[in-house]
Amino acid sequence: MEKYTQIFFVGNQQIGAGAAHVALFHGEPHPPLSKTFICHECGEAWARVVVQGDSGKIRPWEVFMRNCAKHRDSVRSILFCPGSIYLSWDKAYCRALPESVLHRELLLHLDFYEELQECRN
Ligand SMILES: [Zn+2]
Repeated sequence: MEKYTQIFFVGNQQIGAGAAHVALFHGEPHPPLSKTFICHECGEAWARVVVQGDSGKIRPWEVFMRNCAKHRDSVRSILFCPGSIYLSWDKAYCRALPESVLHRELLLHLDFYEELQECRN
C-alpha cells in the first residue's frame, strides 16, 4: 500500500510535516487528499496541506471555506475558529497532525475562545 506524507503551509511558511493516513469509509480505503483553505471574507487561499504519495505525485485537492486569522469579526462559532486548519470530522487527518501544527491550533483556539467569551460579557 502506498504511503503518504503531508506538508502544512500557512501563507508561504511551512509549519509542519508528517505522515498522512488512509481513511476507511464503510470498509473502503480512501487515500488522503491535499487541502486548501480559502477565506470567506477576502478570498485568499491562506493555508494548504500538500499530500504526496511514495511516487512523488501530489494528491488531488479538496477546498475548505474558512475565515483566515485576519478576518475574525464575522465568525461567532467555536466550531469554525478563524485561521484553523483543524477538521474535527476527519479523524485520520486530525490524528496525523504533527506537534507543531497542534501547538499552533491550541493557541488559535484559546485566543478565539477568549474573544467569544468577551463578546458574551
Ligand atoms: Zn481573510
